[in-house]
Amino acid sequence: VTKASASAQPLKNADELIDSVETFIFDCDGVIWKGDKLIDGVPETLDMLRSKGKRLVFVTNNSTKSRKQYGKKFETLGLTVTEEEIFASSFAAAAYLKSIDFPKDKKVYVVGEDGILKELELAGFQYLGGPEDGGKKIELKPGFLMEHDKDVGAVVVGFDRYFNYYKVQYGTLCIRENPGCLFIATNRDAVTHLTDAQEWAGGGSMVGAFVGSTQREPLVVGKPSTFMMDYLANKFGIQKSQICMVGDRLDTDILFGQNGGCKTLLVLSGVTSLSMLQSPNNSIQPDFYTNKISDFLSLKAA
Ligand code: PLP
Ligand code: CA
Repeated sequence: VTKASASAQPLKNADELIDSVETFIFDCDGVIWKGDKLIDGVPETLDMLRSKGKRLVFVTNNSTKSRKQYGKKFETLGLTVTEEEIFASSFAAAAYLKSIDFPKDKKVYVVGEDGILKELELAGFQYLGGPEDGGKKIELKPGFLMEHDKDVGAVVVGFDRYFNYYKVQYGTLCIRENPGCLFIATNRDAVTHLTDAQEWAGGGSMVGAFVGSTQREPLVVGKPSTFMMDYLANKFGIQKSQICMVGDRLDTDILFGQNGGCKTLLVLSGVTSLSMLQSPNNSIQPDFYTNKISDFLSLKAA
């Protein structure tokens, strides 16, 4: 559900926005860092918000790492952020399964990287697949039949650099043939920015393979689905009108904030340019936009 909204306004008075909410949800890539590089002025901005008593939460659609692994990344970049403040889509998949009481005697087939495996393990779920299946090939002989585990009750698909045909066939068999098997996607980002040089096929490309083969739509747990927003609001007891969602991407971050009924701020330090925001082809308008989050330190009322 997209909230129809007026054109985004340039952020002029940061203090007014800061005073109007109690929580900031920050997207990571394009807001906090770009790849492995910290974005200018981020530590000072986070310090200022903490000194004003704001709750800070970090949400990323990148499922390749667990919360613990992201904790290390924040630390390496010199940022004081705890694991409990980080919500990656890898964690979202495990949290979702927990929220529906996914049976502990069932298994999860994972098409994705280490982050999803780590989060499933922490949550106490049995899993198979992951990078380990990356080297597997199918030897097609006449009459060959692929076996699959009948105890798989969910297939979780995320960004996967070890993606192959074996995984598509295995996961498809589980979704199609195991009664009630869930099809869960960590995210459906069309493209991702593994390097600055070009756009790379994102998690949506792996999810799309399974949509094509099963003719089913996945349950998405990452942005822009409302699952993480509801989870956060619940966990911290926050009203959604007291949240400002800050992100660099319109179809994931800004939509995530709008679907959740939050205030939204687009930063131009990531993948969206001002001309993309203002293009007649774009219908997603945040409340405000600004260059980068450290503008919070300089944009004061006149
Ligand atoms: N998925 C992958 C594989 C990525 O590499 C990235 C960004 O680097 C993302 C998703 C998007 O992450 P975020 O939601 O932090 O912008
Ligand atoms: Ca981003």
